[in-house]
This record gives sequence, structure tokens and C-alpha cells, in this order.
Amino acid sequence: MRTALFLFLLIPALLQAKSEWITIEMVCPVDGAKCQLLGPKGPPEPVLTQAGRFDALEEPFSDSNAWYQCQSCGFASYMKDFRRMEPEIAKQALGVAATLEKPDAERSYNMIKFSDRLERAQRFFPVLGKAGDPEFLADFYRLEGYAYARDNNVEKAGEARRQAKLITTALAKDSAKAGLLREHLWELAALEYHLGDPAAALEHLEKADKIRYNNPKWKQAENDERNKDLAAMIIELQHRIQTEQKDAADKAAVKSP
Ligand SMILES: [Zn+2]
Repeated sequence: MRTALFLFLLIPALLQAKSEWITIEMVCPVDGAKCQLLGPKGPPEPVLTQAGRFDALEEPFSDSNAWYQCQSCGFASYMKDFRRMEPEIAKQALGVAATLEKPDAERSYNMIKFSDRLERAQRFFPVLGKAGDPEFLADFYRLEGYAYARDNNVEKAGEARRQAKLITTALAKDSAKAGLLREHLWELAALEYHLGDPAAALEHLEKADKIRYNNPKWKQAENDERNKDLAAMIIELQHRIQTEQKDAADKAAVKSP
């Protein structure tokens, strides 16, 4: 799930309204059951919205609706995995589904908590080949941290974000991924911010701010656009952290005059 290109081209639409979702019918690729799900109205366009911007998350990946679940067999995954599946993988996924709690057919799919959807989806990662994809996993654990934080589950949010940090730290050190270093540093900063380490977050933002894309495969305008958009995101997170630090210092000064 590395959609950096789209992400940076679309960031000007930063505060765009949330995606619109409509009821759709999908055939589960695992057991062939017809599922009533919520699907995006129109082709989904990755966009960074208000909700996920301090978590370095983009829609529709960061929207619970995009994490489908079959009401019959309980297969759960990101929506694009519902489109098609090799028969051998479907067989293995059915095997995994059989080990999980049966979905409650009476309970509306729309009522399933985001973190519960993600927990179930995670069980299918090995058969879907996602367990060995560090970039997907880093994005996923960052998303899981965000979903648990929305449940006020501080412990699990921290656990997921620490996992994301571990993977993203390795990605940032990987010379083969140097082209994405600026994004990885920004993602690390977002994680550190939520994990209560603003000093480390600011340090990574400062490093990220110094990197400029100059990819000869892209047109100059594209390099410029990506540099400009990510710079805006970096400044926004820096500003938020500095404002919170100042507020905390002001509060402490009031308490001990
Ligand atoms: Zn199914």
C-alpha cells in the first residue's frame, strides 16, 4: 500500500470532505456469498484528510468502511482484496476463516468496530502474502494505532504504533528505499508524536524537511509538487508539536509561579 505518488499529487485537496460511501453488493471471493457492504461512490482516490493527517494516513485506507467483512464466512480484508482471488488462496483463506469466531449474521456489518475489523483482517495476512511486505505492514500498524486510539485503548494503540515504528525505522535505514526516506521520516515523526516523544518527532521532521526530491524519472513539476506538499505536512506537524509544548510549558508556569 504505497501510494505516495497519488498521495502527494492529491495533498492540495488536504481538507477535502470524507469519501462518500454507498451500499453495494459484493461477492465474497472466499466462499462466494453475496455481501451487502459499503463501497466508495466513484473510483476511490487516495487523499489525506483532516482525520488522518497527524497519523500520516490517507483515505480510503484510513476509513473503516474500506475494510470489508463477509457476513457469511467472516473473511475480512481491505476492499481491493475482495475483487479477485486465486482459487488456491481462497481455499487457504476459508481455512483461516474456519478458525475464527463465526460472524454474527444478525449484526449489521456497519456496526462492527474499526479495530475489530482490522484485528480480523490481520489474521488473513499470511495467506494473502502481506505478512512479508514491510511497507504494507508499517501502514497497517499505523492505521491500527489510529483505530485503537479512537477506542481510547491507549495500551493497544501504543503496541501497534511501536510495531509500526520498528518497521518504519528499518525502512528508513534501507538504502534501497532511499527514494521514500522523506515519507518514512515523516511517518516516524507522526508515530513518535503519538508515542509521547515530541523531541524525537521534531528531530525526524527536521531531517525530512532537508530532503528534496530530484527524481530524474519525474518531470520537474512533479518533483516540485511533491516537495511542496510534503513540506506543508511537515510544517503542520512541527507546528502542532511546538504549540502543544508551549501550552504545556505555560500550564507548568501557572502551577508553579
Ligand atoms: Zn465469505
